Amino acid sequence: MKWTVVGFWGGHPEVGEATSAYLLEEDGFKVLVDCGSGVLAQLPKYTSIASLDAVVLSHYHHDHIADVGPLQFAKHIEKYIGTPKGSLPIYAHQMEPDKFRSLTFDDATHGVPYNMGESIDIGPFTFTFMQTAHPVPCAAMRITSGKQTICFTADTSFIPELVPFAKDVDLLVAECSLYKDIDGEPMGHMNTLDVGRLASEARAKELLLTHLPHYGEHADLIEQTCSIYKGKLSLAKSGWNWEG
Ligand SMILES: [Zn+2]
Repeated sequence: MKWTVVGFWGGHPEVGEATSAYLLEEDGFKVLVDCGSGVLAQLPKYTSIASLDAVVLSHYHHDHIADVGPLQFAKHIEKYIGTPKGSLPIYAHQMEPDKFRSLTFDDATHGVPYNMGESIDIGPFTFTFMQTAHPVPCAAMRITSGKQTICFTADTSFIPELVPFAKDVDLLVAECSLYKDIDGEPMGHMNTLDVGRLASEARAKELLLTHLPHYGEHADLIEQTCSIYKGKLSLAKSGWNWEG
């Protein structure tokens, strides 16, 4: 399977970039994981909007869902000027019912619920969801296809339950919102030492730092995380991809 970074900023996008979004592909099946701000302008660099088979959302913060509306308009317009592929399923939790309902838009998109702790098949992938520690309900995802497994932490502070959830993954995609001198727990985010601890204790084979902050030197994120995690480590950037 292939994991491509479409957007990686926390909060809001920088010029010409996007917040949280990743393209997950296997055997021609394409899933967009999160759909943050700026994503609809970035996604065509990697795939056409029409070719998406599903969207999976971690939670309803703007930097993870802001472009769901534009995506719904794109799918709506497709009916008139494109080759309509049918309604696009958007998987999300129902713990905020109004927001879940907004995922269904005429016959362009429709919400499909998942529950925390549950595993569901989406095309060739099995997704397992675990609720994280964040100010609003948010799901980390463990995604398996064949012998490969990816864990995406989504937004969370460090909680011990994440360690077994991310155990032995081939790729850990971890939010790294903060440098080591700031405690992420009150905000529901991880700092570099939290991420290093998680990746190390889970024995992740490879680590990608994402949901990056708009301040400081990003090179320090790597250096601080490296002080704990000794495996292969990368910093998210637009178009970064992993294939396994
Ligand atoms: Zn969030």
